[in-house]
Amino acid sequence: MTVNAERAARIQALPFDYAAQPKTSVANCNLCGGSSFVIITHRDRYGYPSPACACSDCGLVFLTPVMTAGAYGEFYNGTYRPLVSAYHGRLIDAKTIQGEQRDYAWERAELLAPYVQGSRLRSLLDIGGSTGVVAHHLSQAFGLSATVIDPAPLEVEEARALGLETVTALVEEYQPDGRRFDIVGMFQTVDHLLDIARTLSVVRGLIHPDGVFFVDIVDFRAAYLRNWSVEEAIKVDHPYYLTEDTMIAYLRRAGFEPLRADYAVDHLHISYVCRPATSQHDALPARDSVRAMLREIRYVQNASAAR
Ligand SMILES: [Zn+2]
Repeated sequence: MTVNAERAARIQALPFDYAAQPKTSVANCNLCGGSSFVIITHRDRYGYPSPACACSDCGLVFLTPVMTAGAYGEFYNGTYRPLVSAYHGRLIDAKTIQGEQRDYAWERAELLAPYVQGSRLRSLLDIGGSTGVVAHHLSQAFGLSATVIDPAPLEVEEARALGLETVTALVEEYQPDGRRFDIVGMFQTVDHLLDIARTLSVVRGLIHPDGVFFVDIVDFRAAYLRNWSVEEAIKVDHPYYLTEDTMIAYLRRAGFEPLRADYAVDHLHISYVCRPATSQHDALPARDSVRAMLREIRYVQNASAAR
C-alpha cells in the first residue's frame, strides 16, 4: 500500500461516519454577512465530503454545511484526537500532545512578555485551553491565576490535575456571569469555533479595558501553498480558514486593536497580541485582495491537477 492508501485505510477504520453527522448550511458569511459564495473544495484532507466556500465579498473561507454544536461536542469527546492520529500515523492524545504544547507555551510567553511582565494583569482565561499546559506555563511565568475552558473532557482532566480552574464546554456555551479577565488567550482555537464573530464579541465583553487579548490562526494561504493543495488545507476540525486580511477585519470589527503580529517559526501560524479598542471599525478586506486569493486558489488547484 502507498502512504496515502495506508492513511485512508486508518481513517476509514475509525468508528466515525462524517456523512451521517447532523449539519447546518451557512446562509450568511460570519464576517461580512454576505451571501455570495464560491465553493472552492468538495472534500477535506481526510477524504470526508465537507465542502468549503469562500465569501466573494470578504474572502472568508468556511465549511458549509458544517456540523452542529452538538455534533462537534461529540467529535471532541473521542473522535478528534484519534482522527488526527490516524492522519499522521502516530498516537496523538491528551498525554502525547503535552510536549508540543510546552514548546508552544514557551514561544507564546515570549511574545506576551512585553505586555504582561511587570504589569498589573493577574487573571488569565484560556479559551480552548486543552490540557492546560499553556495556561499553566503562563501562570507560572507571569504569576497569573488561570481558568481553562475546553470541550474535551480528557484534556480538561489534565488541566484540572495542574491545579487550574476548568470549565468543560464550548466557549459558545460559556456563561461568564459578569466575570472579567485581564488576559484572554485563544491559543490554536479560533479556527475551531462555530461562530467567530459572536465569540469575539463575548471575549470583548469579558476582557478588562486595560487587558490583553491573544489569538493565533493557521494562515490558510500558508496551508494551501505549503501543501500545494487546497483540499489538504481543509479539515473538518476547522469550520473556518483565516488569513491575515480576514483575521484583522474580525479583530477590528469586534473592537480590538492589533498591537503585534508574529509569523511563527513553523511558517504556518500567525499570532496577534491585541488590546480592546475604544471603537469598532467595519472595514473589510479589499475586493482586489479577495479576487487575488480566489485566483491563487484556482491556480493552485489547476497547477497541482496538471502535475
Ligand atoms: Zn464575507
